Amino acid sequence: MIITCLDLEGVLVPEVWISVAEKTGIEALRLTTRDIQDYDELMTHRLKVISEQGLTLADIQGVIATLSPLEGAVEFLDGLRDQCQVVILSDTFEEFAQPLMRQLKMPTILCHSLSLDETGHIRDYHLRLPDPKKKAIQAFKGLNYKTIAAGDSYNDVSMLLEADQGIFFRPPQAIADQFPQLPVARDYEAFTKLLEQSMNELK
Ligand SMILES: [Mg+2]
Repeated sequence: MIITCLDLEGVLVPEVWISVAEKTGIEALRLTTRDIQDYDELMTHRLKVISEQGLTLADIQGVIATLSPLEGAVEFLDGLRDQCQVVILSDTFEEFAQPLMRQLKMPTILCHSLSLDETGHIRDYHLRLPDPKKKAIQAFKGLNYKTIAAGDSYNDVSMLLEADQGIFFRPPQAIADQFPQLPVARDYEAFTKLLEQSMNELK
C-alpha cells in the first residue's frame, strides 16, 4: 500500500501569504521564511500586521477564496488520487486552506490551526507539533504504508528525505543543488512520470 504526501503551497496552489499581500496591497505580508527564518517570529509579525489592519479571519478567507489552484493542479491531483492514497501535508492553517481545498475536491490535509476571539479576529496560531511533515511520514511508515513525498522548499526537505521516495516539484535551484539525490520535476507531466516511477519501485 502506497501513500503519497504532497506539500500544498508551490505544488498545488500559489503561496497564500504572497497572494494575500498582493490582493490586499499590504506589503508587510509579503515576507516569507526566506526573509525571516524563524517561523514563530514570522507568524508573530503576520498576526501583528493583520491585527493592525483590523482584518478578520473572514476577510482573509474571502481573499483566499479568490485564489485558484495552479494551472493543471486539479487534473494532476485527480489523476494521482486514482492511483494511490494522497494526503496533503502543509504548514498552512486549516482555516486558510479551506477555500482552496474545496477547489481541489477536499483531499485530506494535515496542517496547523488558528484561534479566534469573539469578534472573529485571529488571536493566535497553534502548530500541531514540531517537524510535522517528517512526523507524518514516520507515522504512515508505522502503519505499514510505503511513502512517497513531494514538495518545493526547505520546510519539505526532512519529509522528502524521510519518505521511501522523495521528489522536488519546482524548487528554487539553490535548494535542488543542495540535495542532488532528490529528483526534480518542473511541470505536472514530468511530476506524474516521476510519481509513477516511484510507485513502480515501491510495489
Ligand atoms: Mg511549499
